[in-house]
Amino acid sequence: MTEVSPIIDVRNLSMKFDRVKGFRRSVIGQVVAVDDVSFTVNEGETLALVGESGSGKTTTGRCLVRAIEPSAGNVFYRQGDSSVDVLALERRELNEVRRKMRMVFQDPFASLNPRMTVEQLIAEPLYINNVVSDRTEARAKVAELLEMVQLDPQLMSRYPHTFSGGQRQRIAIARTLSLEPQVVIADEPVSALDVSIQAQILNLLKELQRERQLTYLFISHDLAVVRYQSDRIAIMYLGRIVEISTRDEIFERPLHPYTQLLLASSPIPDPRMKRIRPETIGEVPDPANRPSGCAFNTRCPYATDICRSEVPQLKESGTAGEAHLVACHLWEAVELSQRPLEALDGS
Ligand code: SF4
Repeated sequence: MTEVSPIIDVRNLSMKFDRVKGFRRSVIGQVVAVDDVSFTVNEGETLALVGESGSGKTTTGRCLVRAIEPSAGNVFYRQGDSSVDVLALERRELNEVRRKMRMVFQDPFASLNPRMTVEQLIAEPLYINNVVSDRTEARAKVAELLEMVQLDPQLMSRYPHTFSGGQRQRIAIARTLSLEPQVVIADEPVSALDVSIQAQILNLLKELQRERQLTYLFISHDLAVVRYQSDRIAIMYLGRIVEISTRDEIFERPLHPYTQLLLASSPIPDPRMKRIRPETIGEVPDPANRPSGCAFNTRCPYATDICRSEVPQLKESGTAGEAHLVACHLWEAVELSQRPLEALDGS
């Protein structure tokens, strides 16, 4: 059995944004986008952060590389035998870590400067980080990176708009991997692409992970994509992680009512089966007006008084010998009442 160890260790991460009003932009309150989130990412694995829009998954990913400055917490990044807290680093050290932790964004068209050629786009981080010293060296490296993402190096003088969405995402991946990172934070990397192209990009990401021993934090709202791509899954709701476990545990034994709702909304591969949809009500609340206690209590069919008064902590459920953490006061009762799948013919 391969030994796994965390390369990223996120502890009590929080991100609050000011709510402003009027011409003077007076601060009238705060929105908690990420609320006391802790998780680890093991070296070489893919951890998926999953949730609906507004769950805080993208904000969490951005906080890890300080694309936005978190309000509180620690993000430990392990390098060899030592680790550094990314949130405590000065600018120069932070830039070093950012070479090793890189992001791939959802919309490859928006993330690639349309005025730059593919050569310029991919060579830019190489020049900035002194990886190459002249154009000959840069072109050779760009050609190598384009081949790595299965694009023809002869196309490097073209501009991004002359490529398809899938090709643009390949260019963005080549740019991301140009500095040979260890960790890639992929924020909805296929959701802007046609379904037919999504599988190609997902396969490419998997292939590159194997070849380069990459670690992925894979941010997505799409459970079908996550099922294909991830080793472990963390489910987020209104800024908190509500459940985290291996992919198989999450799909076969979801313990949190919100995870069950997400799974019920996601197609399953067997056409003879359907999921029993929990009777959740209403929409995701406004993050500026978080419900007290468990934030899911306004939609949860199992909610009782304790759910409205006490925030449930993420705790080990002790199931199946796998680390399976859930933040629900009543998960044992909820699990007993669940039959996540039933045959359409009633058998
Ligand atoms: Fe539902 Fe209560 Fe569990 Fe929250 S703590 S998910 S409201 S049962």
